[in-house]
Order: sequence, then structure tokens, then C-alpha cells
Amino acid sequence: MASSSFHFTADIKVSKVLMVGAGGIGCELLKTLALSGFSDIHIIDMDTIEVSNLNRQFLFRQSHVGQSKAKVARDAVLKFRPNISITAYHANVKDPDFNVDFFKQFNVVLNGLDNLDARRHVNRLCLAADVPLVESGTTGFLGQVTVHVKGKTECYECQPKPAPKTYPVCTITSTPSKFVHCIVWAKDLLFAKLLGDKNQENDLNVRSSDAASSSKNVEDVFERRKGEEIEQYGRKIFDHVFGYNIELALSNEETWKNRNRPKPIYSKDVLPEELALQNGNMDNNHASDDGLSVSAMASLGMKNPQDIWSVKENSRIFLEALKLFFTKREKEIGNLSFDKDDQLAVEFVTAAANIRAASFGIPLHNLFEAKGIAGNIVHAVATTNAVIAGLIVIEAIKVLRNDIKSYRMTYCLEHPSRNMLLMPVEPFEPNKSCYTPLSLEINTNRSKLKDLVEKIVKAKLGMNLPLIMNASSLLYEAGDVEDDMIAIYEANLEKVLAELPSPVTGGTMLTVEDYLQELKCNINIKHRMTYCLEHPSRNMLLMPVEPFEPNKSCYTPLSLEINTNRSKLKDLVEKIVKAKLGMNLPLIMNASSLLYEAGDVEDDMIAIYEANLEKVLAELPSPVTGGTMLTVEDYLQELKCNINIKHREEFDEEKEPDGMVLLGWTQPVPAAENKNKSVGNGASTSDATMAAAESEKDDEMGIVSPLKKRKLPDDSDISKAAADTKNHKQLQVIDDEDDLLVLEGNLDGFKKRRL
Ligand SMILES: [Zn+2]
Repeated sequence: MASSSFHFTADIKVSKVLMVGAGGIGCELLKTLALSGFSDIHIIDMDTIEVSNLNRQFLFRQSHVGQSKAKVARDAVLKFRPNISITAYHANVKDPDFNVDFFKQFNVVLNGLDNLDARRHVNRLCLAADVPLVESGTTGFLGQVTVHVKGKTECYECQPKPAPKTYPVCTITSTPSKFVHCIVWAKDLLFAKLLGDKNQENDLNVRSSDAASSSKNVEDVFERRKGEEIEQYGRKIFDHVFGYNIELALSNEETWKNRNRPKPIYSKDVLPEELALQNGNMDNNHASDDGLSVSAMASLGMKNPQDIWSVKENSRIFLEALKLFFTKREKEIGNLSFDKDDQLAVEFVTAAANIRAASFGIPLHNLFEAKGIAGNIVHAVATTNAVIAGLIVIEAIKVLRNDIKSYRMTYCLEHPSRNMLLMPVEPFEPNKSCYTPLSLEINTNRSKLKDLVEKIVKAKLGMNLPLIMNASSLLYEAGDVEDDMIAIYEANLEKVLAELPSPVTGGTMLTVEDYLQELKCNINIKHRMTYCLEHPSRNMLLMPVEPFEPNKSCYTPLSLEINTNRSKLKDLVEKIVKAKLGMNLPLIMNASSLLYEAGDVEDDMIAIYEANLEKVLAELPSPVTGGTMLTVEDYLQELKCNINIKHREEFDEEKEPDGMVLLGWTQPVPAAENKNKSVGNGASTSDATMAAAESEKDDEMGIVSPLKKRKLPDDSDISKAAADTKNHKQLQVIDDEDDLLVLEGNLDGFKKRRL
């Protein structure tokens, strides 16, 4: 056990974690990760802190309102864990910067998000980058944590997710089965019809035509006639919507074959005439003309918003609220829209929803509950977030240990089931018809957007009117497009992918949609230049492509002028490999002989390497002299380069203080934009961490990133590509002149997927 728990801590210490979201779950999660021993945490959140966050997002204080959640959360945690590295990005996770290559650097991704769209986006990137994802969510007392590992468990989108907060119109207008349906009807149809904009389309129209009064205009039922008593008007509306419309609906037998029949409710049955008069005389509403303080409850002497009113009480509130709108707030009528902070509006909607619920045999609710439902409010519970954050860390640790058998989806319940509030379930297998992102191998420096649209999107995916997006930037849209956009899209079609306004390069994830066909998919772009094919194309198995122009930010071949009889290996490592090339854990070889390796090295080698560092280059076991070609690598950063050694006797102490000169290399200019987005640990860290943080920062800002895209040996890449290719049943090879497009992925799955 002891050794296993030691191993366990080691896993945590060396792993690099990405957290998406620094809100309710995120604050808890960042704290728990830091206290669990995680020491390299990156966090993305585009939001700023609001006053309403402070009751549960405990890393934030009043003074932080308006500031970046990600950055303030980082600073707060560094105060009690100053020696760990936390990198904060005040940015949208959908920004193109956070592409597949960005995701690949992490051991696990942890989601603490609040919307479906971002969750799907992160899921797709994790699949494309092959990085495990731990997903989470909370609603009040409810919560869940799920694990998604490519090929091992289902992904976030293997099962369709119910779209929240929208309901079929017929459920709302004719066949409500839940209280929320009655609330939507009362708020979006009845309230809007009576008090909102009369010109708005409204489904209540359908049922407002009155056969018995055919001479009258359809609108008349809801329109208050001149001189019509407000009491009279209210009862007319009441009887129409709760009585007559229900009778009308009942006349369609087909609807009620498998449903409970609703019962019509008329005002005279619940409120006898005399009571209504009394009602009208009882003016307890002493409020001024300040609109929002007018209240039907106050007027009727009802105080407790947590009492469930009887049908009779609801009917009195309904009529009283309507009366108050027409007497105290007449000027607003025609312009009102429902607002959860408008007491009278909430009272009216609660009463109307309850009367309708009574009609359909649905349990009634109190005003407090109805207000929450009407305002789409689910009160966040800090404890749920804390529990969920703890579960995320537990699953993340299992993922890091590759302990597949222990993975669990855990549901946090509101009421105990089998004496448990936490319900663990084994994750499901991946759904084979789930469309995981398609990959497209393409020469992004040569192929035009037009080629991609014609040869892939139209010809292969069968889309007629595609829309193509790179993160949030729209590259192309077919169909009914505004005039000024047509020219832009036409120009984009003729552009090479890498030169588009939002460049499409290796690692880009494109979103392709066809609204009419309800098709949507993501395409993961892989930049490729030369290919060894599995099947002949144009009778060739080898597909040559014209070489590219030299890339100006390319650094090979490097030459190093150095006095090989005086400079030590240590000097070369510190001044060139680490300081200039930005490698953290370098490995240095002279032909096949290993001179130095940093990082996790076997004990007996450490002494040898330490001795080598102190040796003059020409006196190393495998001597480094003029004409030697050194190979320098950093596996973690996927960097590799050669250094051509040139012996030089003398150096100018003023101009060349290092005693060596690196040629063919220029100091890359950090991108200013990135500088603002990503922040290292900052001043609150110790010097040692500062140095680490600085080099982290450099990672993201360009010293390494232009090199990073250059991967280890090309031939292994090609054989790997060929091996990958064999594993995919559906490989599409298209050739056209010099360009080659390879599309891989499960097209059947893609076709089955609908929006
Ligand atoms: Zn899936």
C-alpha cells in the first residue's frame, strides 16, 4: 500500500492538468487540486467576477468584482500553495489558440462549465487530442461527474443530451404534463398576450376565435372594451382561457385517448359573484404609484410566498393582479415583458399557472417556487459544488493511474437512494455510431478553402449549403447570405487555408454545418506534405508534393561557433540549449553516443552526466570538435535540432560575452496578444518557481511554439500515419494535381447524427 500511495503522489506531481471554468465548481476544484498535490495547473475562464458569485465562489471577494475569474482564482490559491505553478487564461476556450496541439500537452482535462456548447467543444478537442476528460455539472442539490476516455468509455456526446428549457409548442398550448409547462404558458403566452406587445406572434391566437360570437374580431376576447368594468374584463379572460379553451380542446377526442382529460374551470364556480364584489371593495393596497411595489397578495392580505394557494385563492390573485395592472400600471400595458423581479407579474403568472395546473390535474406550487421556475432560477448550492469538485479529483487521479476498472460516473442525488446520496455507476462503452471528430490530412499551405468545400464538404459529407467555422470565426456560408458577405466568402474560397483571415493549419478544429439537412460535424485538420499510400493513386504508391518555400521562423541548421578546447559541456547546455533554445529537459548526443540527459535518469548515469558537464568539449568521451554535428532533443516539448559545431579560438569579450555564438537562430519576438492572455505565477511565488514560471510563459509566447509544431523525425511520422490509416475502415483518398486530401473517421456515424 505504501509504495502504491507513493506512486500515486508522484503521478499527481508530474501531471499537467487543464481546468476549464473557474466558477462555482472551478473555485472548489482549483483549491482541491492544489491541496491534493497537483503542481502544474492551467485554467481557462472568460468570465469576470460578479457580486452574485460571492456567496459560493469562495476564492473571490467584494474587491475582486469585475476582475478575471481565472486570474483571481489563481492568485487566491497561490497564497496558500506558493510553490506550485498555475497558469491562468482570461479567454474563451473556443478561441483558436486552444487547439488540438494545445490540448495535447495535458494529461487530463477537467470541465467545470455551465453550458452545453462549450462542453461539446471541449469534448471534441479532447477526442481529437486523445486526452482524457472528466466532465461535471451541478443544479441545486443535483450533480454529476463523468469520465470520458477515447475508445474506453463513451464520450460526452455518445448519448444525445436533452436540450433544456425549450418545450414543444403543442405541449405548452394543449397538453401540459408538468408545472413548468403551465408556467411557460402563463408567462410566454397569456402574460405576453394581455400585457405585452400586441403585435407579437402569439400561439394563444389559435384558440381565441370564438364561434359563438363570430361577428367579433378575434382580438376582441383579449381586448378590454371601452367602459368595460375591470372585474367584468378579468372574468371574461378567466372564463375564456380556463373554461372555453379547455372545452374546445376537449372536443378533439383524438388528443385525449391516452391522456387524462382536463376539466374546464369557470370563474363563477370558484368565485361566487358576491365574493368577487367584496374582493373589489377590499382595497388594502396602500402602496404609492411606484409600479413595482403594487401587489395583489398585499391587496388581499396574503403574506407568505411559501403557502400553496387553493384554486379559489389563485383565482382571486389572478383577478386582483389583472385589476391592479389596469388601474395602477395602465401606462405600461402593451410594453410589459415578464420580469422575475416584478412582484405583480410573478403573482399573476403564479396564479394563472396554478389554475391551469388544477385544470390538468398537475400539482400546484407556491409563489416562491413558481418564481424560480419562471425565472429559470435554480439556486446554486455551494456544498454540491464542493462534493462534485472532490469527485472530479478522485476520477482524475484514477485516469492518471490508468485505473480503467475503477472509473465511475457519479451522480449526486437530492434524496438518498438505498441510503446513499452519491450514486456511482460504471461508465458506458463508447457508442459506435457516435461521430467522433473526422480528421482531414491536407496540405494547408497549398490547398484552398474551395478545395475543402468542393472535395470534402460537398462531395464526401454530402452537404449542399455548408457553413464553415474556425472556432467562432465564420469562413464560409452558402445559401441566403447578405450581399456584403458574399464578396468576403468568395475571396476566402480562393485563399490557401493557412492564409485565411482565421488561419486553418495543423491542429485546427473546423466546424461544418448544414442547417437545412440538420447536419453538423467537426473536422480535425492535420497538415501533411508527403505520403506513402496504402492504395495506388494515379498508379502511384508514393505521392510527391512540391517542396515549400523556406519557413522564415525555421531554425535549422544551427551553427555554433565555440572554443572546443576551453568551453565545457555545461556552458553549452546552460547558455545555448536552455537559454537560447528554451529546452527544459534536454538530451544531447554526438552521433550515437549520449553525452547528457536531464530529467528522469538512472542513478548510475547521473554521475557520468555530471562529470561530462564539467568536461571541456574536446575532452568528452566522444569528443566534440570542429565539424561535429550534435543532436539536441527535448522529448516533453517534442523539440529536436542539430547543432553544427565550428571551432573558434578567440571571442570579443564585449560583443560576445558568452564565449560562443549561435548562428542561424534569431530571438523570436513574443506575441503581445498571448502575453495578455496567459499569466505565469507572478510576484507571489518564490524565485525558483518564478524561473520556472518564466520559462512556462516563454513556452506559450513563441520561443518554443514556432518550433513546437515541428515534430520528431519525419519518417516515423509517415510510418505512423500509414499505421493509423490501416486502422480506419473508411479511408478516403482524393487526389487532384499536387494536392492530396485524406479523410478519416466513421462516416456512417456522422450521417446518423442529427441535430
Ligand atoms: Zn461519443
